[in-house]
Amino acid sequence: MIPAAFEYRRAGSVEDAVAILAEAGDDAKLLAGGHSLLPLMKLRLARPSVLVDIGRIDGLRAIEERGGRLAIGALARHHDLATSALLRDRCPLLAHAAGLVGDPQVRHRGTLGGSVVHADPASDLCAVLRCLDAELVVRGPGGERRLPVADAFRGFLETALDPGEVLVEVLVPMPAAGHGWSYQKFTRRALDWAIVGVAAVVEPADGGIGRAAVGLVSMGPTPLRAAAVEDALRGAPRSAVPAAAELAADGTEPSADIHAEQDFRRHLSRVLTRRALEQALSRC
Ligand code: FAD
Repeated sequence: MIPAAFEYRRAGSVEDAVAILAEAGDDAKLLAGGHSLLPLMKLRLARPSVLVDIGRIDGLRAIEERGGRLAIGALARHHDLATSALLRDRCPLLAHAAGLVGDPQVRHRGTLGGSVVHADPASDLCAVLRCLDAELVVRGPGGERRLPVADAFRGFLETALDPGEVLVEVLVPMPAAGHGWSYQKFTRRALDWAIVGVAAVVEPADGGIGRAAVGLVSMGPTPLRAAAVEDALRGAPRSAVPAAAELAADGTEPSADIHAEQDFRRHLSRVLTRRALEQALSRC
């Protein structure tokens, strides 16, 4: 339970972090809240030779409205998201889901950026950001680029960020006025990771459903969208929800582990999707 030896460097700015990463090479790792990286290092599943601490960089923790979108700094902690008046008002799904991450200690240390780049398919916030069509702002030696969350997750614990890049901000489109939302997290104990989770956003139209977005937690090696459910609900009446929810596991490949068999996860995804859509519609 003791990590392998590493060199500790503290970055004073994003530019500083990018420069240290470039100098240290692919074997370096950024440290934000440390709540995913340090356990991996203690198990020696990660052995970075250089740890670049970005946790004290100023200006990466803001949550603000900009150009019709919510701009959330990569170092915003789960607690910041859960208690942000702006998020609770304009994007309650994200604030609510952040309040369900782990326990208070995890929520006070863990960051949004760390959650995204760690890319755990069991992460609550990665699936919520997929559901919300968020975009990542990353900075590296070649400058800044935007990366849609839909293209960001490549595989289990793997993203499309280059090793020399820093995630600086997450941009979330403002959900439409009058939308309904829900986050259903199935756990054995309140502070556990989701065995399966479902995030839903519904935009009503003409007494029915205009558009629905559904994000899935722990239903494959990456956070997923339930595309078949969304297709079935586009322009459909509200009564279409039970049949559409039956499609939640289509195209998924959930893992089997000590918490659940594959079939149980598929079953949960269908039940939780129906509950999420019904609750979202009740909030429209
Ligand atoms: P770190 O551990 O510091 O970093 C994680 C990875 O991201 C590292 O590879 C690091 O190099 C990289 N990284 C970090 N920041 C950046 C950046 N800005 N740019 C580029 N790369 C970066 N999560 C849930 O979603 N739901 C849960 O229920 C849950 N329960 C938990 C329970 C426990 C006991 C613990 C320890 C963790 C739990 N987590 C849970 C994970 C938690 O949300 C972590 O905080 C999060 O996954 C990682 O955030 P971090 O800031 O700690 O990242």
